[in-house]
Amino acid sequence: MQKLTADIGIIAAGPAGLCAAVAAAEKGASVVVFEKAANAGGTANMGMGPLGLESRQQKEHMIGITKEDAWRTFMNYVHWHSDARLMREYYWKSGDTIDWLEDMGVNFFGPMRYSPDSEQTWHVVQPDDGSRPGGRAAASMTKVIYNRAVELGVEFHFGTPVKKILGDKNGVHGLYAVETATGEEYELESKAVIVCTGGFGANPEMVRQYAGFQTGTDMFPLCGPDVVGEGIRMAWEVGAKHGRMEMEGIDGQFLPMQTYHFMDLFTQCNLVVNKSGYRICDESVMQNTAIAFKITDYQQDKIVWHILDDKLVKYYRKHGLDIASEVRHFDPTENFEESIADAAENYPKYCCIADSPEELAEKMGVDVQNFLETLEEYNDTCDANFDDYFCKPRKYLKAYRGKKWYALAKTCGAYGSLGGIKTNWKLQVITDEYKPIPGFYGAGTDINETYDGTYMFYLPGNTMGFAVNTGRMAGERAADYVFDQE
Ligand SMILES: Cc1cc2nc3c(=O)[nH]c(=O)nc-3n(C[C@H](O)[C@H](O)[C@H](O)COP(=O)(O)OP(=O)(O)OC[C@H]3O[C@@H](n4cnc5c(N)ncnc54)[C@H](O)[C@@H]3O)c2cc1C
Repeated sequence: MQKLTADIGIIAAGPAGLCAAVAAAEKGASVVVFEKAANAGGTANMGMGPLGLESRQQKEHMIGITKEDAWRTFMNYVHWHSDARLMREYYWKSGDTIDWLEDMGVNFFGPMRYSPDSEQTWHVVQPDDGSRPGGRAAASMTKVIYNRAVELGVEFHFGTPVKKILGDKNGVHGLYAVETATGEEYELESKAVIVCTGGFGANPEMVRQYAGFQTGTDMFPLCGPDVVGEGIRMAWEVGAKHGRMEMEGIDGQFLPMQTYHFMDLFTQCNLVVNKSGYRICDESVMQNTAIAFKITDYQQDKIVWHILDDKLVKYYRKHGLDIASEVRHFDPTENFEESIADAAENYPKYCCIADSPEELAEKMGVDVQNFLETLEEYNDTCDANFDDYFCKPRKYLKAYRGKKWYALAKTCGAYGSLGGIKTNWKLQVITDEYKPIPGFYGAGTDINETYDGTYMFYLPGNTMGFAVNTGRMAGERAADYVFDQE
């Protein structure tokens, strides 16, 4: 057993843990970080960037959204069913955190929107290989934060999951961790502990028990395999209160997205029906993936069908997509016919090709008569160029007149989970009696119960933003706590 000592022990080196480590070390605290994976960055290595409000970049680009406006919009969106003080702390710090990251060496491509109706709060990272930002751009950010932490003397142990938080509800005093490859045991004695293990999104049992979804059936989380709720369980063991737990919902794919590049064709605001064969919304609202999640979650068996025909495919091939992806930079019409034939063969329950709408409805397993009526009504709507029923914008009204028919089923997905460990707005982990556990802090997804059901995509970058800002704040507060004890 190796015995270590430090002012602060941090569980995990995702964006929350990394920012906590840098912030605490900048204040002069000694820090040891145990990370289960072989490298730093966590789930953020799959993403594009955090939210910031009133950052230098936004000011330079004359982007006028204020923290006051954003905070009020956010709080209204979540029905104020959230910690308004914590959200205020986060939003008021978020612009400065973007500047702090920039000063550290992070290159931001610029503040971007997620969809036309969202604000330019998403500070997308410029990948260090100079490529156009896409999925995984933020890996270049976590690398910079990690290097800064090393420069400040933070000690990292990779491939070494924490197994136990030492202490109880009267105070925590260290961590017990075991290196996976060698079995080497570590006991860290520390004055404070920060937990930020990224939630429980990859733990099907916790997803079922605490969020009510069946992974692989009606829930397809995108997060990596390491986030299985270990920090949450360990925090509960020392007396932390259970926090609100939900999924960070987005629309979910039955088919592997890496294999089938045609997915974006099906999300071009065309006709979407439920299992009864009825239209369910103005389909253009589904370009916001969090809204698509909610709509889908509401339907029978949590399934919706996106409909296409060969004429529409031809249209997009010629004119380009109505809704472009910021993440996937390829042409979804390329090899469409071969690719969808392959998908229909391998995933016949979720991807169908037919020579007529009747045949398509039968293959989808939706009510044939309802589907035909829906289609007729939808085509009339498109011909009239006016959606009297769901008020869909005219530019998306494209009638179905093709010879080949395609359908793709979607269900619920998630970036990962949200919440589990209850903290107060000072990021102190609290007991059932709402008393802070001395020396115990939390940050990032493990404590993120700010949403009331879904990710708030009108202010994109909100969860990585929550992670980097609560990580930074927890690091600062833990360091202050340590120095107050001396
Ligand atoms: C595909 C994808 C794209 C995304 N894009 C964006 C985006 O552009 N903007 C945005 O705002 N959000 C985005 N997100 C969400 C964002 O990545 C997360 O909100 C953020 O990474 C959470 O940070 P975290 O530090 O709390 O946890 P994580 O980043 O999940 O890190 C948790 C870390 O804990 C480690 N760990 C787990 N258990 C232990 C243990 N027992 N001991 C030690 N270490 C442990 C894990 O290995 C991991 O490194 C995206 C998510 C996904 C899946």
